[in-house]
Amino acid sequence: MKILVVEDELRLAEALSQIMQEQKYQVDVANDGNDGLDYALYGDYDVIVLDVMLPGKDGFEVVRALRAAKVQTPVIMLTARDDVRDKIRGLDKGADDYMTKPFVPEELLARIRALSRRQGEVLLEEISMEDLTLSLSTNDLLCGAKSIHLAFKEFEIMKILLSNQKTIVSKEMLISKVWGDDSDAEDNNVEAYISFLRKKLSFLGSRVQISTIRKVGYRLESGNG
Ligand code: CA
Repeated sequence: MKILVVEDELRLAEALSQIMQEQKYQVDVANDGNDGLDYALYGDYDVIVLDVMLPGKDGFEVVRALRAAKVQTPVIMLTARDDVRDKIRGLDKGADDYMTKPFVPEELLARIRALSRRQGEVLLEEISMEDLTLSLSTNDLLCGAKSIHLAFKEFEIMKILLSNQKTIVSKEMLISKVWGDDSDAEDNNVEAYISFLRKKLSFLGSRVQISTIRKVGYRLESGNG
């Protein structure tokens, strides 16, 4: 198991690193928010232990940037005060758990184990509709004996459509979630990807189709119904 510790108190960082190495975990330590974010974005960690009060970016900014970059690594935040607002703020930004300093190392280890188990389950997840299944671990779209790999944006769009079955998904929502609010993507970017996905659905021979709801957006529908 690979853990990232982002903590600017050097003695605490060193102590945590030692405790984790005793558990045979691989540990990287970053001492400020900017390094922490870089490590977290490019290293492949199972769990990130993230202090709130950090030089550079604080822990809230780091976790928000990670989630915005679609990095879903579980994050445990370390807060200095027993401040409920800090806890809520951390969880709002996408943290999975938090601990108040000072804490007992065994408790941190227990929470790391719990979060890494949860991560393992998420990796197996898939979403289905009728004869169509999207694997969230391999980005493959499957139907019967056939399967086809989806490119990153195709995958994100299909995941949103499958997670919102029976509701209409607007182009604005797709742009915001797949390209990001500050991108300059336009409706025709979405239309292009919807057309790629339709070709792939037709290759698979699935009964599921992407219907265009004029001036509103898209919805998955069963070709039989
Ligand atoms: Ca600190």
